[in-house]
Amino acid sequence: MKGYVQVYTGNGKGKTTAAFGQALRAAGAGLRVFIAQFVKGMEYSEHKAMERFSDLITIKQYGRDCFINREPTEKDIRAAKQGYDDVAEIIRSGDYQMVILDEANIAVYYNLFSARDLVALIDMKPEDLELVITGRYADPIVLERADLVTEMLEVRHYYHQGVEARKGIEK
Ligand code: ATP
Ligand code: MG
Repeated sequence: MKGYVQVYTGNGKGKTTAAFGQALRAAGAGLRVFIAQFVKGMEYSEHKAMERFSDLITIKQYGRDCFINREPTEKDIRAAKQGYDDVAEIIRSGDYQMVILDEANIAVYYNLFSARDLVALIDMKPEDLELVITGRYADPIVLERADLVTEMLEVRHYYHQGVEARKGIEK
C-alpha cells in the first residue's frame, strides 16, 4: 500500500493526539508503528496506554523537556540529532509501515536540526511508509512536500485561562 506524508500543525489542540490516534488505527490493522518524540522528555499517559500495543508500536523520546520558554542547550541539540539518526535508520530499514515524528516541526523551529534535514527524511522514505509529522510552526519547505496538511485552528483554549496540561487530557 502506498504511504503518504501527513503534517499536523497549527496552534490548536489535537496534533499529538491525532498522531497517536493514527498509530492506534494502524496497529489495529496490524501495521508496525515507530513513534519518535522530539523535544519531549517526560512520560505522558499515552506511553502507558501504548504499552498495551508494544508488539506493534514502539515509542522513543529524544528530548529532555518542553523547553517552550528557554533556549535549547547543547544537550537538547545532541538528543535531537541522536533522534534524527535513529529515525533515519528506522525509515530506511523498511521494518515499519508508519513512522510518526512528534514535535519534529518544533525541533526545526528551535534549530535542533534543519528543515532541509527533515525534508531529507521524507526523501528517504520507502514507497509504502506512512510518515506523520506534528508540531506547531511547520516549515514551508516541509509543508510543500506533504501530501496532507491539517492545521489545528485555535478558536479557544483554556490554556489562556491558566489551565495547565492535565494528566489524561494533555499529558
Ligand atoms: P495534544 O497533545 O493535546 O493533541 P497538541 O499536540 O496539539 O495537543 P502542542 O502544541 O504539542 O499541542 O502543545 C503542548 C502543550 O502546550 C499543551 O499541553 C498545552 O498545555 C500547551 N498549550 C496549548 N495551547 C497553547 C497555547 N495556545 N499557548 C501556549 N501553550 C499552549
Ligand atoms: Mg503536540
